[in-house]
Amino acid sequence: MSYFVDKKPHAVLIPYPLQGHINPLLKLAKLLHLKGFHITFVNTEYNHNRLLKSRGSNSLDGFTDFVFETIQDGLTPMEGNGDVSQDLASLCQSVGKNFIQPFGELLRRIHDSADAGLIPPVTCLVADFYMPFTIQVAEENALPILLFSPASACNFLTTFHFRTIFDKGLIPLKDCIPGLQNFRLKDLPDIIRVEDRKDPILEFVIEVGDSLHKASAIIFNTYDELESDVMNALYSVFPSLYTIGPLPSLLNQTSHNHLASLGSNLWKEDTKCLEWLESKGLESVVYVSFGSITVMTQEQLLEFAWGLANSKKPFLWIIRPDLVIGGSFIMSSEFEKEISDRGLIASWCPQEQVLNHPSIGGFLTHCGWNSTVESVLAGVPMLCWPFYGDQPINCRYICNIWEIGIEIDTNVKREEVEKLINELMVGDKGKKMRQNVAELKKKAEENTSIGGCSYMNLDKVIKEVLLKKY
Ligand code: UDP
Repeated sequence: MSYFVDKKPHAVLIPYPLQGHINPLLKLAKLLHLKGFHITFVNTEYNHNRLLKSRGSNSLDGFTDFVFETIQDGLTPMEGNGDVSQDLASLCQSVGKNFIQPFGELLRRIHDSADAGLIPPVTCLVADFYMPFTIQVAEENALPILLFSPASACNFLTTFHFRTIFDKGLIPLKDCIPGLQNFRLKDLPDIIRVEDRKDPILEFVIEVGDSLHKASAIIFNTYDELESDVMNALYSVFPSLYTIGPLPSLLNQTSHNHLASLGSNLWKEDTKCLEWLESKGLESVVYVSFGSITVMTQEQLLEFAWGLANSKKPFLWIIRPDLVIGGSFIMSSEFEKEISDRGLIASWCPQEQVLNHPSIGGFLTHCGWNSTVESVLAGVPMLCWPFYGDQPINCRYICNIWEIGIEIDTNVKREEVEKLINELMVGDKGKKMRQNVAELKKKAEENTSIGGCSYMNLDKVIKEVLLKKY
């Protein structure tokens, strides 16, 4: 329900320019819009064009009070066919150096339009916490700034500790972080183990960690019980924290169908897979996706392929055009023949719809935070093959703390994939994990329903932070 009758408050939102960051922030933008905010959502020009291309459209703007703006990403194209906007080191360096100026200029243009009475004046900024330059821009414009954690609270906690670990000369870390007793060194972000203290990603993450205290408040796409120990540790350090997740569930509490046209897919969705799922039995299909950044070798792809084929279970596998290192891959005709009646490969799909389809019984995932949360909300247990960043931490939670998944060895082998798929889909362990994930789903829904903690926290953060300048 909208709070405002006359002039709307105006929130400017900016995600880190990757798929897994754009998706949840756009959901938050929709929620704020439904609460009565005028929204400006800022993408890089490159991603904006990808969004348009994936939809086959000239414009994303469906509303006068929900506007998309763009800034240049300042990236230098890679030699060859590589997409520099998917390269983490280049992105981190460019966000650190090149984003502040165009973002400041964009805000000035928005102020000019507001002065001319064309749009409401900006009243707050909401930025991905991996965009630390936004804090300076907020200070210069005397605006409250809400930082958004697109990943788990645990990932946030480790980022926060990076500076201390670095200053103590502990990087590359040989032991675990105090307070994270249940975690092995291999579960922490790989960047903590780099030998080069000048590594661009390491420098960036330390800068991010340093900036966190300067935000007006921080919000998390999680709910309290899901990561209670970590949230309790964070509440004791940061004065103004709000859990408002899981965002897909919070958004589903509202009637937002008129906003459905505002999508965030950087790849074109193949919706035929939904029809294909219709032909399959209840909880019989394994959904396989490694998110938007993970890459693997041709050998690893083949191990997964034959593990899936030999499991004899139906599967829907998302193979992005850039999933395999070195580009193209060719599946043998033997494999094609083996899976013809039960395997479907697509390049991108409407994942939330797929996971919620009654035919899906398990998810072979890289453990990105959005995928993790979406799987919990769909009540689907997981097989985990984490790749980098926060994914190993998420995997540890999934497998050892929530007990809703099984980990596949980094050195993936087809025999193990086959065995674990069977365990997941029809084994006793799979059955137990399905019960556990149903419990987490229930708690997530309680948190996001009217009166639930995440539901109330969104209203609180709007009143206590976002409307400070209104
Ligand atoms: N996704 C999708 N279709 C696909 C694969 C992924 O819509 O075929 C979405 C998925 O629902 C999730 C996001 O892409 O919201 C991936 O984010 P995640 O945090 O799981 O992983 P990342 O891509 O950041 O590694």
